[in-house]
Amino acid sequence: MLRKLIIILLCIACIPVYAYSQNSFGKKVGSKLKKFFIKGYTEQTVAAPDYSRLPEVTYSQLSGVTLESIFFELPQEIPALEEDIRFADFSELPEEYDIWSNSSINPYNVSLVGMKDTIKVDVSGYCPPSVKHVTSNWGFRKWKFHYGIDLKVHRGDTVRNAFDGTVRITRRDRGYGYFVVVRHDNGLETLYGHLNKILVKPDQKIKAGQAVGMGGNTGRSTGYHLHLEFRYLGNPINPNDIVDFQTHTVKKPVLLISSNTFAYKAEIDKIRYWTVRKGDTLGRIAYRTGVSVSKLCKLNGITKNTILRIGRKIRYT
Ligand SMILES: [Zn+2]
Repeated sequence: MLRKLIIILLCIACIPVYAYSQNSFGKKVGSKLKKFFIKGYTEQTVAAPDYSRLPEVTYSQLSGVTLESIFFELPQEIPALEEDIRFADFSELPEEYDIWSNSSINPYNVSLVGMKDTIKVDVSGYCPPSVKHVTSNWGFRKWKFHYGIDLKVHRGDTVRNAFDGTVRITRRDRGYGYFVVVRHDNGLETLYGHLNKILVKPDQKIKAGQAVGMGGNTGRSTGYHLHLEFRYLGNPINPNDIVDFQTHTVKKPVLLISSNTFAYKAEIDKIRYWTVRKGDTLGRIAYRTGVSVSKLCKLNGITKNTILRIGRKIRYT
């Protein structure tokens, strides 16, 4: 009799315990108990990336902007500076992107070197413009900085658009040759240089993977290749931060842009040049700059016998 009574009492006691375990507090307690009783138990929690919220740039980043370049776009009240990381709505690009130019690669004049915000960019919809190997990487090339990455293409290969967007520029330039700039819906811009033929028109909406042109060797280029640049508000981003060029896939579906992204500019700013004047020799430049002749040769990709043209810039740091 007593045993029956104990079993009935236990069953009744289980009902509120089960009900309680179904609310969030109960679940927390449950997982703690699991951890306690089951050796090695770990809770699996995967945070889904939040694509619903997006970039915004504060006026604290506008250090490089001149009055002439933004006079129409400036609102009456300039928002207060905010130190915190914040994310804006993906549907609203930064105010600076109100500037739309069919000729200037960087009409924004925004320096992001000391930017205080971190900006999230959805790069999950990436399509590789070329799937061939890297022929020249991002970074210093002797005395000049290479703001993009070069990918092998053969003459006439299809060069594809990286993300959904709108064509901003289709032009010919001495350096880039035939090139295309696309403003993407995710806030990035891409540039495709040295094309043989351009297959899109300014203001045309294009999808990721759509052909923007054909591979070529136009402009300042030695050999057929695609010069590819990624930019945010006109500021180049290291393509290796976004894409793994071995597999031609994005490293992460969400790219975080912060002041670290533009830290390379500090390195560039350290560089000093000597402009060659009449009568200058490498020995004299070495004496005046305090840098050895062999180091000058190495920095500039020249030899002791190279003839120095007047006006040529010689890097010495
Ligand atoms: Zn290049």
